[in-house]
Amino acid sequence: MAAKLQNARAKSDICLEYTAMELSVFSDEHYMKEALKEAHKALERNEVPVGAIVVCQQQIIARAHNLTETLTDVTAHAEMQAITAAANAIGGKYLRDCTLYVTLEPCVMCSGALFWAQLGGVVYGADDPKRGYRMSQLSLHPKTKVKSGILAEDCGHLLTEFFRKKRN
Ligand code: ZN
Repeated sequence: MAAKLQNARAKSDICLEYTAMELSVFSDEHYMKEALKEAHKALERNEVPVGAIVVCQQQIIARAHNLTETLTDVTAHAEMQAITAAANAIGGKYLRDCTLYVTLEPCVMCSGALFWAQLGGVVYGADDPKRGYRMSQLSLHPKTKVKSGILAEDCGHLLTEFFRKKRN
């Protein structure tokens, strides 16, 4: 009886461990790290370091970073690129089953695009008190689940360092 119980406990421990492992692989932090990799790519091009990815059924279907200098296009924000790439990947304009991860709070333009694409979720890192969509009291699509503050320090640090170096 005791042996049986122990066996059952060991099995449930394995189960718990497995769940924890799964959570860490598909966690918001994990995906935000991928968005941060994109932000670093932007930095290498001397672009304002913002990165974004789109996740659908735990798979990354789009990766993008800010390209406003490279494309000489003020609309080339990371989110805009990511939305277009994700729509291409799934072959549809609505991204209801997708979550966009972006290192910085979306601006008003991007929040408009996120609204039209009806994202299932938006997760962002650092707040943008100056240009973020929340300062204009806009909201995303009512069905979009929003999370913020994921790896906010890492995401913000990249930006403050970029602008500090620009000034010097
Ligand atoms: Zn934007």
